[in-house]
Parts: sequence; C-alpha cells; structure tokens
Amino acid sequence: MASRANHGVLLGCALVCAAALLCSDAAIVAAAEDPSPTPTAASNFPIASDVRLAGDSKQTRFVLDLDKAIQFSAFALADPYRVVVDMPQVSFQLAAGVGTAGRGLVKAFRYGLVMPGGSRIVFDLTGPAKIANSYVLDAANGQPPRLVLELEEVDRTTFVQSLAVESRPELRPAIADAADIAAAAEAVAAPKPAAPVDLRPVVVIDPGHGGIDNGTQASGESEKNLVLGFGLALRDRIEKSGKYRVVMTRTDDTFIPLANRVQIARNQAAALFVSIHADALPHHEGDAQGATIYTLSDRASDAEAERLAEAENKADAIGGVNLTEEPTEVADILIDLAQRETRTFSNRFARLLMGEMKNTVRMHKHPLKSAGFKVLKAPDVPSVLIELGYVSNKGDLEHLVSENWRSRTVGSMAQAIDTFFAKRLATAGPAN
Ligand SMILES: [Zn+2]
Repeated sequence: MASRANHGVLLGCALVCAAALLCSDAAIVAAAEDPSPTPTAASNFPIASDVRLAGDSKQTRFVLDLDKAIQFSAFALADPYRVVVDMPQVSFQLAAGVGTAGRGLVKAFRYGLVMPGGSRIVFDLTGPAKIANSYVLDAANGQPPRLVLELEEVDRTTFVQSLAVESRPELRPAIADAADIAAAAEAVAAPKPAAPVDLRPVVVIDPGHGGIDNGTQASGESEKNLVLGFGLALRDRIEKSGKYRVVMTRTDDTFIPLANRVQIARNQAAALFVSIHADALPHHEGDAQGATIYTLSDRASDAEAERLAEAENKADAIGGVNLTEEPTEVADILIDLAQRETRTFSNRFARLLMGEMKNTVRMHKHPLKSAGFKVLKAPDVPSVLIELGYVSNKGDLEHLVSENWRSRTVGSMAQAIDTFFAKRLATAGPAN
C-alpha cells in the first residue's frame, strides 16, 4: 500500500529528526539535511526573503520569494478555515509584522519551525476556500525562485469535500507524524533492557508554545522564548539534586501539538507534569499582574481562567495541526478513578507551589485557579500549569526577563517539588 511505504519514509525522517532533536544541536540537524555543511550551518537552509499577497475575496494569490527551489505540500483545515503549507526547514528573513494583516481570502498568516528540518506557513482564511493551484517556479527573468499558492473562494460543502481528497495519506503534513516523532524520541531515549532501571520519579517540564506558535507577545518578547528559558533553568535546578529524572517536552524552538505534550508525560509514566506559560491581558481588559497556578477542571473557576484556557487550547489551531488526527481517549471507569486521584495530587502540588512561590514571587490576586487546559488532560499524571506573569504588565515583563527573578522563582518551585515528593514517598512508604 502506497500510504504504508510513504509512512515508512516519514517515520525514517522522524527518526533522523528525533535523533537530531536529542542532540539538540542545530548544526547536526543541518548536517543531516545537507551533506556539505559550512561553518555557519544555519545558512544552508533555503532563505525566504519576501512575501506578497494579491487578489480579492474571490481569488487570492500568495507568493514567497526563495533563494532556491523547494518541495512542499499544502492542505486545508476546517473550523477555523485554514490552509497549511509544509516545507523543509526554511530560514525566514521576512520583515517584522509580516502576516499580521491579510488580503482577500487570507485574514492573516504566520510561519516558523514545526520540527527540526520542517517549516510551515499557516494561513487563517476569511471563509471556505480551495487551493486552486500551488507550485514552485524556478528563477527566471531576474525573479528568484518562488512558491506560489492560489486560493479560490468555495462554499462550505465544496470545501469539506475537498478536505476528504486533500487528507489522502501521501499529502499528509509531516506534523501528522509528530506522534511518531514522540514515539521515536522515546524509543531512542528509553533505557535499553540491559541498562540499570532508573526508578527515580519522572518530572516532565513543558515550556508552552514553540516554533510557529509564539504564544503571547509584548515589547519584542515572545512567550515561547521566555518559558523555554525558564523551563531549562528549572530542569537544571531540579536535575542537580539527582533525585528526579527530568524530561522536557521541548528543548528548542520547536512546535509540539498539545496532545503530544500530554502523551510524553504519559509515555514516561511521569509523576509530575509542570507546564510553563506567561499570560497577556488584552488592552481593553485593563492591567493584571503576578503569577497564577492552574489545575484542571471541567469548569473554569472564573471568567479570566476560561479566557486563558481558551487561548492556550488554541495552540494546535495556531500551529495548523490537523485535529482530526488526534487520538480519542477511551473513557472508562479506570480513567475516571485515576483522574480523581490525579486531581487530588495536582491540587496538593498546586497548594505547595503557592506556599513556596508567594514568599519570593509576586502572585496574582487570585493565584490558585482551575480551567479546562488540554495540556493538563493526562488522567494519570498530576499536572499543573503555571502562568509566570503577564507580559502585558510592565513590572511582570521586567521580572520575566530578569535572571535574578528567574533564579528565585526556579528555587521556590524546586523547593515545592521536593516537598511534594517527600510527602508522597512518606505516604507510600514501607508501612504501606
Ligand atoms: Zn501560553
């Protein structure tokens, strides 16, 4: 079956990418891509230098200038209407703010890395549209190589019918196999049977967003970078004690779908999952400040928690993940029971964290909340999501970029983690 063979090729790529990811060395990724690396390996990636949108609400054309021809695949997604273009890793050297304003059928677009070796452009559409044409032109008549995408307005029925054709396996984006990447990464990272078994509790640290998904942004700072820096600092601090095995959902600027983050925690049989984010309040909603600790619940504890969960849950739509690919959880009584115990532990950790953090960090006026964050939905892993502060608040932003603040906050979190496990081990001690 053609799709099988194709799957194998993608998995092969995924393994190479996963191996590169583990080495977390951009040069290695580049070397895997290009057999003749130069000292500045990053410059080996094709360069996208300019972009143009033309047309109207019936027909819209997108043109991307490149320095070499590339291969790509394009597909559409519904609810919200989007078109996704997947390509090999590209160095985007486009003007700041490009893509925030659209034209014709394109409301806006964004671009970035979705995995080592893979870049993506996601177009938010004003309504249903089909990809009438998509191709790469070689350099000609003084024009550089160009990627061209032509969109045409269609009705919803036609759009939905075209989805069925476009989601044929051979046209699936590389990201559809992100689950395989996670699985492959795990296969590579898992201890070999002969190796001594590591019985230390596993703590998964999950820096939010990444790659094409910037998270919230203010004053030139992206949430994705702030929380990655914070997550790595937290990892280094708690790894030092030697008491835990720490797993990161990402260690670089890569997009990870929400379901994969949860899956990493479950695959690793994590004892604790800590997702790190930073919030921003829309201008018209005034100012807010301080850190907030969230646990999972079906009903948001207040309107702000609901707004935030909705914003964070949009990460997959921002990254252009085909949501139909998401595995559905089998709801049964066991999961239900695990969930109840998990929530008890999640709440316990959240309170410990609050107790430690309030001594060193400015907290939100309602610092403990709950909401339906997708990333907290591992039925058997105690999980919290921490909003470190508001990038929209001047004081908070100063903290978020301060080495000193980060070090103090990481310290209080590490203390809370120690207390949490000390108590757990005590209750699960020999008497049990
Ligand atoms: Zn976030």
